[in-house]
Amino acid sequence: MAGREAVLNDAIETHEHDVLVLGAGGAGLRAAIEALAQGVSVGVICKSLLGKAHTVMAEGGIAAAMSNVDAADDWRTHFRDTMKGGKLLNNWRMAQLHAQEAPARVNELEQWGAIFDRTQDGRILQRAFGGHTFKRLCHVGDRTGLEMIRTLQDRGVQMGFDVYMECTVAKLLKDGERVAGALAYWREQGRFVLFKAKAIVIATGGIGKAYRVTSNSWEYTGDGMALAYDAGAELLDMEFVQFHPTGMVWPPGVQGILVTEAVRGEGGTLKNRLGERFMEKYDPKRMELSTRDVVARAIYTEVREGRGTEHGGAFLDISQKPAEYVKRKLPSMYHQFKELADVDITREPMEVGPTCHYMMGGIRVDAESAQSSVPGLFSAGEAAAGLHGANRLGGNSLSDLLVFGRRAGMAAAEYAKKAAAPSAAAADAEAAQREALAPFERREGENPYTLHRDLQVTMQNLVGIFRTREDLEKALGELEALKRRLAAVSVEGSRMFNPGWHLALELRSMLTVSEAVTRAAAMREESRGAHSRIDFPNTEAAWGKKNIVVKREGGAMALREQPTAELPDELKKILAEEK
Ligand SMILES: Cc1cc2nc3c(=O)[nH]c(=O)nc-3n(C[C@H](O)[C@H](O)[C@H](O)COP(=O)(O)OP(=O)(O)OC[C@H]3O[C@@H](n4cnc5c(N)ncnc54)[C@H](O)[C@@H]3O)c2cc1C
Repeated sequence: MAGREAVLNDAIETHEHDVLVLGAGGAGLRAAIEALAQGVSVGVICKSLLGKAHTVMAEGGIAAAMSNVDAADDWRTHFRDTMKGGKLLNNWRMAQLHAQEAPARVNELEQWGAIFDRTQDGRILQRAFGGHTFKRLCHVGDRTGLEMIRTLQDRGVQMGFDVYMECTVAKLLKDGERVAGALAYWREQGRFVLFKAKAIVIATGGIGKAYRVTSNSWEYTGDGMALAYDAGAELLDMEFVQFHPTGMVWPPGVQGILVTEAVRGEGGTLKNRLGERFMEKYDPKRMELSTRDVVARAIYTEVREGRGTEHGGAFLDISQKPAEYVKRKLPSMYHQFKELADVDITREPMEVGPTCHYMMGGIRVDAESAQSSVPGLFSAGEAAAGLHGANRLGGNSLSDLLVFGRRAGMAAAEYAKKAAAPSAAAADAEAAQREALAPFERREGENPYTLHRDLQVTMQNLVGIFRTREDLEKALGELEALKRRLAAVSVEGSRMFNPGWHLALELRSMLTVSEAVTRAAAMREESRGAHSRIDFPNTEAAWGKKNIVVKREGGAMALREQPTAELPDELKKILAEEK
């Protein structure tokens, strides 16, 4: 026993915090700031550099019913839009808290130094976005995420959180039922590092890298969801993967890179190869400002029926607006197309098509505290589930990060203040290290890159926008085969600067979340929001009252139906109103 302790306490670098936050995106930083404000010690771990989290890529804006542009807006309308966008599968309490608290979180961000675009009379400017009744997105041109991260990061550093950058968490450690810490490795040197903590907040973002065409960055390998699942937490709504309608389609090297919805928010129109404004057929009322699930399916259908562009997409045109306006409101889009595709969007249309963008599913959490089903384990942001139901509205993620990041940080700090120091079993940390190093032990195994490519093709082709039982069953077979192949993967070289090794470890997470997505998609025999079954094309009332929960049981993945909670009468009334 003494020997084991030595491994934990002496040989391995060890850090201890009351609250450990995994992830330095908007959710993680906001959680860390709130936990610090409660007077506990906070460590933030991120696998990329501080300031480079995925949130930095967010473009269009933060949804909050500030009523600065449309005076009729209020939290009730935002709540209704969010629930309707999510096809009523949302956790209603999360949707209510989100709509009520988002304006205060945006104001706070401004007080901390964020410089938003302004109305003539100096208030925060808001723009239109798909599925939002009113102009609601607070924005900084099309670089809103950058401003958010810059502001939160400055605030957190000033307040004094400890940041562990380029450090990847590979395993959560437990003390009985509760969390006790995490085992991680430094990406640069490959050395292990042990974190002891009373409470952990998972804010590690989404899963897009399991798909071939995605707007997501390399960080999006579903680590947090898989870590939580392995630690016994429940996952929710995993069948709902959002395909954003407008990613770049040409040239091939940039396929999937996002074309922000702000282009449509600013008046961009969608046309097919024949010059038809095809949204008239799919949603004549909202047209291009319809929800993402509807627009993505519309483009996909146009292409499939032979009316797509040369490279298999649709045309998105903003050139009817004055060139100076386009450059001022959409500067990143202007440069992105000029530099990557040699297209001047002030004169020519963009070619766009659906791209895997956002994960509505994730770790199941309590609405008030963001605590998962594992004591001491909290989650917020894209890694968590509930707020968005079957489909997320644009802009509702950045507000989600602020509202539930704050709640998770506060609740984690409160939990840590009351909790005794846990002790993680040394044997678990040792086993996790051995497991992580196994790919070095195997000789002449498969290389992780081919396996990743095959996983992406499986998910893209068989678990994409349109699904069938046949495809999903085929995908499950292929995922089983990929799991066997992963157990035989080997990596070359040393632990230093070894991206192949990192990928081999991330593949464990990608396979776990891919299996959860596929199993839940097979179970939901209807079409709703982002989940479209060709063999079950209708939306079924019975499924509208059920979420799907995924949990590890006896080493295997078990799924169950969870009835949605009944809405209180006052919220039912709000849902029934039309504005
Ligand atoms: C191009 C693009 C534009 C978007 N625009 C908008 C928009 O305008 N409005 C909107 O509301 N939403 C937008 N979204 C969605 C939104 O940006 C994301 O959902 C949101 O930023 C996720 O934030 P997060 O804090 O949950 O995670 P992230 O910002 O992704 O942060 C995750 C963090 O976890 C860390 N991490 C991951 N795994 C590990 C691990 N194993 N160990 C340690 N650290 C780990 C990462 O390093 C990172 O620091 C956009 C998304 C994209 C791709």
